[in-house]
Amino acid sequence: MNKEIKKAATPHTVSVLKFGGTSVKNQARIQHVAEIVRDRLAEDPGKAEKKAHKILVVVSAMGDTTDYLLKLGAQCAKTPDKRELDSLLSTGEQISITLLAMTLKEMGLKARSFTAAQIGIFTESVHSKARIVDINNDNLNKALAENDILVVAGFQGITADGDITTLGRGGSDTTACALAAATDAVICDIYTDVDGIYTADPNIIKAAKLLNRVSYGEVIEMARLGAQVLHPRAVELARQYKVRMRVRNTFKPDHEGTIIDGGEDMEIYRSISGVAVDKDQACVTIMSVPDIPGIAGQIMQALADNNIVIDMIMQAFHQTAGLNNITFTVHSTDLDQTIKTLESIKGDLSASSVIADKDIAKVSLIGAGLAGQSGIAATVFKAFGGAGINIKMIATSEMKLTCVVSGKDADKAGKLMHSSFGEG
Ligand code: ASP
Ligand code: MG
Repeated sequence: MNKEIKKAATPHTVSVLKFGGTSVKNQARIQHVAEIVRDRLAEDPGKAEKKAHKILVVVSAMGDTTDYLLKLGAQCAKTPDKRELDSLLSTGEQISITLLAMTLKEMGLKARSFTAAQIGIFTESVHSKARIVDINNDNLNKALAENDILVVAGFQGITADGDITTLGRGGSDTTACALAAATDAVICDIYTDVDGIYTADPNIIKAAKLLNRVSYGEVIEMARLGAQVLHPRAVELARQYKVRMRVRNTFKPDHEGTIIDGGEDMEIYRSISGVAVDKDQACVTIMSVPDIPGIAGQIMQALADNNIVIDMIMQAFHQTAGLNNITFTVHSTDLDQTIKTLESIKGDLSASSVIADKDIAKVSLIGAGLAGQSGIAATVFKAFGGAGINIKMIATSEMKLTCVVSGKDADKAGKLMHSSFGEG
């Protein structure tokens, strides 16, 4: 994945600034973003090396445009063709790049808009969640040489055959990190509508605290586990290419935000960095499959062939000897496809049935120092037990402790987890 992004030896110092949908929601906000871009260009971090400073801006679609486009598509077809849907969704970002570029030019700046096809952001040929495989560095360098500010459409890509793809919801973060890697940018600033990354969602857990620095690994876990901070693939890319990231508030441009980097030495002062609650999850069980080698592989292959990402796989002995139940979690949006896939192989596996539980949530504790600390799990389980919260599934790794609980207990469980550790 993403192995092909080559760092270009650019004669410039590049700063990548990404603005999300709320930041470019209307003309007034686009004007505000243009002013931030202008001020950042003037900062010139390349002065010492006598390199010209260039800004690469990546924008999302205005406000809820992507949701609106999805609705339009759904009005025309029950399951819209994925190729056409990607073309449709990519138009949202094409609107915002042109409007921002016009605004910047109006201010007298040397700016120009680019779609993914115009720059050459190549992806694999998978619609709706394509991965970036290559960026055309020659195009990028030429564009940087000719302009001071490039405004590039986030979220979209192009296949080798010229089809438009999208990177998955929230994918503009990934575009920004990929471009930062390709230009060896000094920073990849993700401008959003909050001050940075918190120890938990401050809308749910009032005691959540802003983190001033967090490691790639911790943010990847937080994002994967449902904290709506960043697109997890963006941070994976940043880690792979050592892109220094920062999450900042568009509406408080002087606020420092949260730095995301390699997190060297961080375990020493903080073992737990946050709590994530993900309610968009479902749990699926394939019942009574034979307890013989190869069965789990067959199930996972069928799901992988349908691009379904699963998590928290659990196998348990059935009452009857020689039979197992295999349970795992999926994102709610993949539930129908998951059930369809399992139903289609149920006969081959001689499984008895497929059952799903939509009303679940994943509640996770994340931290670089969680490894090998069984006391932490004990504290969490005791707190849940004391509050009468039933734990349906448990999974742990070096950096996380995840419990599946019923949907109604989700927020309470999140709060308990957060308060069990001195409120962050
Ligand atoms: N506009 C796309 C979305 O809403 C991509 C993004 O915002 O990053 O998911
Ligand atoms: Mg968006």
